[in-house]
Amino acid sequence: LLAPSGAVASTIFAEMSELAIRTGAVNLGQGFPDVDGPVHLCEAAIAAIREGHNQYPPGAGIPQLRHAVAAHQERHYGLTVDPETEVLVTAGATEALAATILALAGPGDEVLTLEPFYDSYAASIAMAGATHRTIPMRPGPQGFTLEAEQVRAAFTDCTRLVLINTPHNPTGAVLRTEDLTLLAEQAAAHDAVIVTDEVYEHLTYDGVAHVPIATLPAAAGRTLTISSAGKTLSFTGWKVGWLHGPAELVTAVRTVKQFLTYATSGPFQHAVAVALADDDGATREYVGALAASLQSRRDLLLGALDAAGFAAVRPEGTYFVAADAAPLGFTDAAELCRRLPELAGVVAVPLSAFCAAGSPTHELLRSWVRFTFVKQESVLRQGAEALASLR
Ligand code: PMP
Ligand code: GLN
Repeated sequence: LLAPSGAVASTIFAEMSELAIRTGAVNLGQGFPDVDGPVHLCEAAIAAIREGHNQYPPGAGIPQLRHAVAAHQERHYGLTVDPETEVLVTAGATEALAATILALAGPGDEVLTLEPFYDSYAASIAMAGATHRTIPMRPGPQGFTLEAEQVRAAFTDCTRLVLINTPHNPTGAVLRTEDLTLLAEQAAAHDAVIVTDEVYEHLTYDGVAHVPIATLPAAAGRTLTISSAGKTLSFTGWKVGWLHGPAELVTAVRTVKQFLTYATSGPFQHAVAVALADDDGATREYVGALAASLQSRRDLLLGALDAAGFAAVRPEGTYFVAADAAPLGFTDAAELCRRLPELAGVVAVPLSAFCAAGSPTHELLRSWVRFTFVKQESVLRQGAEALASLR
């Protein structure tokens, strides 16, 4: 029996959403939209069921979606991807991450991630029996950033994978080309595979551009790029994701995926293929409007956090704002988040949930909280009012 412990325990997001339901508090914890994506895509999923796409789809993903992913990467980033051998459709980005780590890392291998990191990374690394090492991100006047010295120091002869995430959950940072270049050069020097989680690729603000590390020369031939329809299209429950990269790496991940889920839900693949194939039309319009609306909702939440006395860092992407509760006198954000429903009628997530227990980053971010702004404006206003009572 695998006793839940350490990196493989219950997820903080499910725990916090359950707390919100139990207490009736405003849920600014788990990042999921409270309004669904485009109706015509729901219709496309329903049509796919009616048309009989209800038996096992191909293990690598339906051809329409693999071709649409390749075309998307070409159109947005100028990347040439072979849809036959270099794309794998997965059950969300979560399965792409787990299958990649299980396929490419094992005992004796080190997997490097940024810290704070999305919680499934540590769990998958632990399930693979590999060692997790991190590169710290620090809050400062430029937002959360990396230090070149620490990037260099984190790589060793045992580094097998370097798993990055941009735009970054939970800090909202968008990694700069110079950071990506250094990471890619270090990966090349240590012959490590780069894995990049880009699920928020289209959700950046203030004109900041997302740069896929796969577009950098040093990353060529050693990068697996992961994304998902969940965030881009506001269908987090559909769990359609994908990855692309060199054929031999994709084949290794596909081998593992066969025995995790075998294939990804057919009707939803058809609907996502419709969305990506229409990337010049309704989809582009939808995603552009979503990013603009998220930017204004981000500003609303930043104003509320500032008024409530938090020291928040302005995010350049994602669904999230990270804010320090220390100015309000709270030194332990985990404790604060447990009490927040009763203190202020709001649910949020402590940044410590994205850190390795006892690490220097865990200590540094002890008083930091993550709030999501992917909620309707009326909900955010309700949250803002509730937070004002903390002062
Ligand atoms: N990576 C990051 C950084 C995320 O925030 C999330 C979840 N929202 C995922 C991966 C998982 O994506 P999916 O729902 O497509 O599995
Ligand atoms: N990615 C979402 C978040 O960070 C949660 C997804 C999940 O609960 N697995 O809030």
